[in-house]
Amino acid sequence: MAAHASFPKKRGLNPDDAMKKLWQAALPGPAVRTGQSSKEETTTVAQLSLDIESVKGFLDPEEGNALYQYALEASQAAPCFEIGAYCGKSTVYMGSACRERGGVLYSLDHHRGSEEHQPGEAYHDADLLDQESGIFDSFREFRRTLSRAGLEETVVPIVASSEIAGRGWVTPLSMVFIDGGHSYESALCDYRTWSGHIVQGGFLVIHDIFPDPEEGGQAPFDIWKKALASALFEEVEIVQTLGILRRV
Ligand code: MG
Repeated sequence: MAAHASFPKKRGLNPDDAMKKLWQAALPGPAVRTGQSSKEETTTVAQLSLDIESVKGFLDPEEGNALYQYALEASQAAPCFEIGAYCGKSTVYMGSACRERGGVLYSLDHHRGSEEHQPGEAYHDADLLDQESGIFDSFREFRRTLSRAGLEETVVPIVASSEIAGRGWVTPLSMVFIDGGHSYESALCDYRTWSGHIVQGGFLVIHDIFPDPEEGGQAPFDIWKKALASALFEEVEIVQTLGILRRV
């Protein structure tokens, strides 16, 4: 965060008004809104090139289908962006939608695993340890997923931390999916770094929203509330633990 502080106030990071209008014009109206019609939209099954169950990950198929739907709509206007790819499950859903619309998905992950993926932790998978170094590395498996799904010409992997990747970022984004580290510091950094790049009408999507602290960590829910409180976003819907907001 210290590096951010040395930068002039987000200068050049947000699209200017003319750009905003351009992207807004390119974005179609929301296909999915709260209310009865949203159910029909989000249950449409994503068209994927592989058996999604064969990809390691923690995304429910209903949440994946929702990601696919929103990416299908958003990717016509500007690139989509995900934070936290792991082995590429969400990447397959979003990337397949982008490919269908001739769009691009940037997929950011340092691929060193979150706290819970490290040896001895609850979600550790020994298959993902680099044999030579003994360090967790999901990038090889991620690339394998991209190849199997036929997404190498659609997805641009960025192997870096959110903070470093965000320092020079200037490209407007039509959809930002936050599913990175679940510590409050990580989630807040992801929100602050990327939400400002979302074009008007674009989507901010946050995974692992648990309003009940008994059910899960509160950091994703906290940034979801922060986004709503900013008045820059309005709620569209929540699909299981996937919170979808729209940039107003
Ligand atoms: Mg998640």
